[in-house]
Amino acid sequence: MMTRRATLGTSCGVIQGGRLTVRYERSALSAEEARAFAALAAQGLREIERLAGLTARTRLRFELRSATRISTARGRTIELSTSRVAARSAPYLHEIAHVLLPCRHAPPWFSEGLACYLESVLSESGCGYDSHLFTQDGNRSVDADAARWLADPRGKNVLPFIGTRGAPPGLVADRQNVAAPFYVLSHSFVKFLAAQAGFPSIIRLARVRNFSSVLRRFSGKTSAAWRSLWLQRITPAGALHQSSSNRNTLGG
Ligand SMILES: [Zn+2]
Repeated sequence: MMTRRATLGTSCGVIQGGRLTVRYERSALSAEEARAFAALAAQGLREIERLAGLTARTRLRFELRSATRISTARGRTIELSTSRVAARSAPYLHEIAHVLLPCRHAPPWFSEGLACYLESVLSESGCGYDSHLFTQDGNRSVDADAARWLADPRGKNVLPFIGTRGAPPGLVADRQNVAAPFYVLSHSFVKFLAAQAGFPSIIRLARVRNFSSVLRRFSGKTSAAWRSLWLQRITPAGALHQSSSNRNTLGG
């Protein structure tokens, strides 16, 4: 999303080291907190590069601001809220994943689901923390979180955009009723795909041009077939919501 760029002025502190630059407001974050965050971010950068088989050469710039409400990644600049950084609840691993694996030709459910999934994989292996923005406990709870959303009209509203194309209206503006179910369902589906088709396949999918045909070639099934299997796995018998998939006219 597009956000207005504010000037931090002289009250801005800068931490520079390795391939990272972290700019922060001195009034909102101590130098120790900023340095601790820079060390976590550097570790996250290295680990995502290692997991994804990427050459370690990307330089990242973090802007930590108190006015920031929604975290963003634009190019190689990641903007996060200072209060979230101080509370160790900032989705910095999610945003680093977006920068390193931008998913230029993949549908939104895959791009967001992959960033959420990688954030959980890394934090569960002791690399940094999970922001738990929309899940109760990352990869461990996401399927139960997804099943709860599918029993809720707000989850049913975004389901037509999972495993298909396009993003639900209100994704940026309505975090509580649209983004929350969309991210949780996307995360659960990508976790399912990673387990079924293999981690290297989903990393490769992040880079390909023709997402649907490459998914079919790598995994032997279409997105729609995988989506059905995933829904059967996470929803109790008789509680499937397949009919709602017809509402997404972009789907396919
Ligand atoms: Zn994201």
